[in-house]
Amino acid sequence: MGIPYVILGGGVAAGYAAQEFVEQGIEPDDLCIVTADERLPYDRPPLSKSYMAGKKSREDILINPEKFYADNGVDVRLKTRIRAVDLGSRRLYDEDGRDIEFDQLLIATGSSVRTLDVPGGDLTGVHYLRSNADADGIVDDAKNGQRAVVVGGGYIGMEVAATLTGRGVEVTLVYDGKRLLERLFTPEMSAFFEQYYTERGVKLIAGQKAKAFEGDERVERVKLGSGQTLEADFVVVGVGVTPATGLFGGSELHMQDGGIVVNKYLQTNLPGIYAAGDVAMYYDVLYQKHRRIEHWDNAMQQGKHAAQIMHGSHGEYMHLPYFFSDIFDLSWEFWGDTDNADEIVYRGDLDSGEFSVWWLNGWTIVAAFVMNRPDDERDRAAEWIRMHQRVNPDLLANADVSPAKVTQLRV
Ligand code: FAD
Repeated sequence: MGIPYVILGGGVAAGYAAQEFVEQGIEPDDLCIVTADERLPYDRPPLSKSYMAGKKSREDILINPEKFYADNGVDVRLKTRIRAVDLGSRRLYDEDGRDIEFDQLLIATGSSVRTLDVPGGDLTGVHYLRSNADADGIVDDAKNGQRAVVVGGGYIGMEVAATLTGRGVEVTLVYDGKRLLERLFTPEMSAFFEQYYTERGVKLIAGQKAKAFEGDERVERVKLGSGQTLEADFVVVGVGVTPATGLFGGSELHMQDGGIVVNKYLQTNLPGIYAAGDVAMYYDVLYQKHRRIEHWDNAMQQGKHAAQIMHGSHGEYMHLPYFFSDIFDLSWEFWGDTDNADEIVYRGDLDSGEFSVWWLNGWTIVAAFVMNRPDDERDRAAEWIRMHQRVNPDLLANADVSPAKVTQLRV
């Protein structure tokens, strides 16, 4: 007999799945979390924000304290990297070849950071950010270092650049795209953020790749594609992640675009084996397509949902894609999917940072970005997208027309 429930991975999906298993009611030793992490499951978003800024402690970011696992008989095996799996005989093998047999398995191995394969990439002071230990390494360098180069103009690069600036570090942010967060932002939104960063002392260098890191043992300079050299006491690279599915390469699990395919119940093609979080290529019942999401809310919700299903529930996983970010003194949120949008509407004041952006398809709202807008606008964003709300773009663009009026319109 195997352990009734095993979670492979000890991150966000795992932490909230464990919480849900306990809420559903499990016996001591029914649940085991196996994780390479050194720490109990914690929330990762603060690592680049409040934790890195020194405003939250290690304990603050734990999903549940140690006592929770002890009191509920949850066996958490930290620093246990799984090296091989045999899904047929329902076994995981750790680095020493010890096996863990399971009845049901939740795969929640998350993502691995993409690394830069450039000369000097292994010099001390070149950081990536995924774990609590990674954040600690960056904070240590930020205490002594004056100048940092942050590579990558996506979420992580933008957040780290802002937080380090707040810590008094002189930051240069280098990215190979033409503008910040090209994947999501419109040119107008990027322009707002670029100005915001520049005004706060961050030097932005667009359209450039880091070609080499130079120094004796420790990084001292970053060489760009243009030949330009930037002095740096340390470097943080945030150039994206890939799903951590290497263990399952030769297995019978169905994979698609690097993710583990699951249905609307988060079940893989193999009985009793589920996936949640960054690794799960799940069937999105709202948009009727398979998708993989690398965001906290989805990992948290999927972890909980998978636990319910594994415990015997039958509900579909229904989730509106959602993401948030904190930058300097700004907080923004985003809901939905911009893929099929044919029109973009701005509401509020793009210069002052109090604005929302609405992506429409044939006047139906499909996605929204909201920053510093009144609560009723923020609250309606998700509701409108779920309801396929139709609006008149001209009225939506007029911030003097209340959201309630926009929804009452016949269009
Ligand atoms: P993870 O939380 O990455 O957990 C994966 C776990 O699996 C880890 O414990 C890992 O050690 C373990 N593991 C992997 N392979 C093995 C193995 N072979 N053996 C044993 N254990 C293994 N999202 C937002 O929506 N908003 C944000 O502002 C935001 N900010 C972020 C900031 C940072 C710095 C980071 C790193 C992420 C941020 N995210 C944010 C993304 C969000 O945190 C992730 O989407 C979420 O953590 C995914 O959860 P997960 O459980 O799938 O994976």
